[in-house]
Amino acid sequence: MRRFFPGLVAVLLGGATLFAAEPIRVVSFSALLSEVAREVGGDAVDVVGLVKPGVDPHGYQPTPVDLKTLAGARLVLISGKHLEPYVDKVARVAPAGSVILSVGDRLPSLDAPEGGHDHGHAHGHGHAEGESAVDPHWWHSVAQMRRAVVVVRDALTALAPEDKAQFAKNAAGYLARLAVLDKWIRQQVALLPRDQRRLVTSHDAFQYFARDYGFQIEAIEGLSTEQEASAGRVQELMALIRKEGVKAVFFEDTLNPKVTTEITRETGTRVGGMLYADGPGAAEPTYEQMQRHNVTTIVEALR
Ligand SMILES: [Zn+2]
Repeated sequence: MRRFFPGLVAVLLGGATLFAAEPIRVVSFSALLSEVAREVGGDAVDVVGLVKPGVDPHGYQPTPVDLKTLAGARLVLISGKHLEPYVDKVARVAPAGSVILSVGDRLPSLDAPEGGHDHGHAHGHGHAEGESAVDPHWWHSVAQMRRAVVVVRDALTALAPEDKAQFAKNAAGYLARLAVLDKWIRQQVALLPRDQRRLVTSHDAFQYFARDYGFQIEAIEGLSTEQEASAGRVQELMALIRKEGVKAVFFEDTLNPKVTTEITRETGTRVGGMLYADGPGAAEPTYEQMQRHNVTTIVEALR
């Protein structure tokens, strides 16, 4: 609302925009970072979210129309940790003087699992030869999301120091909500005995969640949704599900549940429900909705 009144004054003065600061144009390649920028920036930012809730970020490629929105951008938000293979293209198109902020690259990383589980599986997550296998799904840790809020707050403050107090206040409010969310997740997860905290998912997206909340992950596919599951991996998972008596397996909003369904049919385990793996969905577009949906689904299915 702060900007409404100067705008009104400007109209009364005959269209002079003397008093109205232009909002900072932010172009975001991550649905979650669009949310962070809006929460922290408030009416001091104008956020263009190119990767919308419900879009698989592994398969997204910017169109020429998408790239045009970079004109006038002062801050470009990238999820990072190698999630966006098109980042060089963005850097070439982004206006001179704009800040391209790869938020995930400012956060601690988990390496891709390489047979480090207790059962010693060699998963063969199909990363290209020589590519560093860093897990890009940092947002499933609320602690990481909180760090991301601070990174975005600091970037906005550097661009508009005059709005520092407002950004600090907005960020503090959002961080407080995230702290409540983290506490709620811990309470929910505590309802599950430790040996039930085993997540069989479509692709390997929940390692940061697993680390924070004490789960073990068994994924059908690798770190990217672009990789097909091998027949060997599916057999291995089915053997594990039978041996450990895994109660349920989960599918994802943006992936075909065919293999998941096949596994439940073969092993007699249940489909535990749908999880948002790569960001929030169109029906539940906020970070808090995504986490509450996932945690409720997991706890109900595995209890
Ligand atoms: Zn993913």
